Amino acid sequence: MEKQKNSEKRNNEQKVAVLDKFVKKMRECGQILFSRNLIDTRSGNVSVKLDRNKLLIKKTGVSMPYMTKKDVITLPIYEGTEKDNLASSDLKIHRQIYIESEKGNKNINAVLHCHMPEAVALSFFDDEITPLDYEAQYFIKKIKVAEYNSIPEYVAEFKLCIAKGHGVFVGGKDLDEALFLTLALHNSLKIFLLKNLLEKIKT
Ligand SMILES: [Zn+2]
Repeated sequence: MEKQKNSEKRNNEQKVAVLDKFVKKMRECGQILFSRNLIDTRSGNVSVKLDRNKLLIKKTGVSMPYMTKKDVITLPIYEGTEKDNLASSDLKIHRQIYIESEKGNKNINAVLHCHMPEAVALSFFDDEITPLDYEAQYFIKKIKVAEYNSIPEYVAEFKLCIAKGHGVFVGGKDLDEALFLTLALHNSLKIFLLKNLLEKIKT
């Protein structure tokens, strides 16, 4: 009995440590996105996959740069629950990205979403953007612009996708990769925009 109690206590301590680690990382991602003007105090969302059928996601209406443990919720990936409405409004897309990724063996364990202004602006003109800069050509295969329902398949395939008129969804093997790809995408789209604007002025 005593042994069982001790092992339960250890399990709970481990779960709390894992939760603390993820929330800290989510908050750091929020602070970096905020510092680059990619989210405001309420917009954007983030999730991580905890196991095959469990994700940890930001709650709706809370601020990513100031997130604490009470601002996240653990939910199943493969089924809806009555607590779904507490989660970020993009919960369905996050779930579907993990499902599509699992189907294609793509190893996506974290998803970041922000309303990147350059991506939203370009999404009104292009269905696909080919990166011009060396870094993005190396790390980003394809930048698709898609309607909301097609986002999961593109994120599973190319790790990122622009939702038309809305923002970007980026997946990674962990939050570090999702953040790195978000920032590489941002840099690449700035270069794309500047090059096209300069071309118009200079020619
Ligand atoms: Zn959004």
